[in-house]
Formats: sequence, structure tokens, C-alpha cells
Amino acid sequence: MTTTQVKIEEKLFQNRYRVDEGRPHVSLRKAEVCRDECTDKVCTHCCPAGCYTLDADGGVTLTTDGCLECGTCRIICSDHQNVEWWYPRGGYGILFKFG
Ligand code: SF4
Ligand code: SF4
Repeated sequence: MTTTQVKIEEKLFQNRYRVDEGRPHVSLRKAEVCRDECTDKVCTHCCPAGCYTLDADGGVTLTTDGCLECGTCRIICSDHQNVEWWYPRGGYGILFKFG
């Protein structure tokens, strides 16, 4: 019997995401806290959707498109409490397909 291996990127591609323009459900409270006070910036490593990216100036950019609503960033930023997190409004956000 053969098994087919599916990469995580291929599984994520199956999801659909409806953007709520101008109303991101996750945001950074203070960008300067990320840039100046947070040394490990764990969000850039732990988000399964890669929503957090490191900037050249040491800051962090958050792009919520594709967010899986897992809540990891809210928990992982407990030292700085710098992530504002809500579920998206009804009809917006992630639509999981095929697991
Ligand atoms: S872990 Fe929190 S404070 Fe640190 S860079 Fe990420 S969002 Fe900013
Ligand atoms: S809730 Fe999960 S997928 Fe969404 S930005 Fe946070 S860590 Fe990434």
C-alpha cells in the first residue's frame, strides 16, 4: 500500500480566507514594544500561517490575511501582552476545507 504525503503548505492552500477590510481581528498594541523591548520575537517563529514577519529595523509586521485563528500569538506574547486578539466578525476570516 502506498501513502501520499501532503506538505503543510499544500494543506494550508486548501483553506479560504475572507478579509474584513480595515478591521483586522488581530493587531499589535504598540509597534515600538515589538521593535525596542521584545528580544526574542517568538511570534515570528510560532505563527503557523506566517502572519508575523521581522522587519529590517527590528520591528515586526503583522498581516492577518490567512490567520488560522489558533490563538498562539496571543498566548505566546504573554510577557509583553502586546497582541490584541478577537475572533473575526461573522462571515469573515478562515474557512477550513479538507482538514
Ligand atoms: S512576541 Fe509580542 S511583543 Fe514580541 S514581537 Fe511578537 S507581538 Fe511583539
Ligand atoms: S491566531 Fe494563530 S494563525 Fe492567527 S496570527 Fe495568531 S498565531 Fe498566527
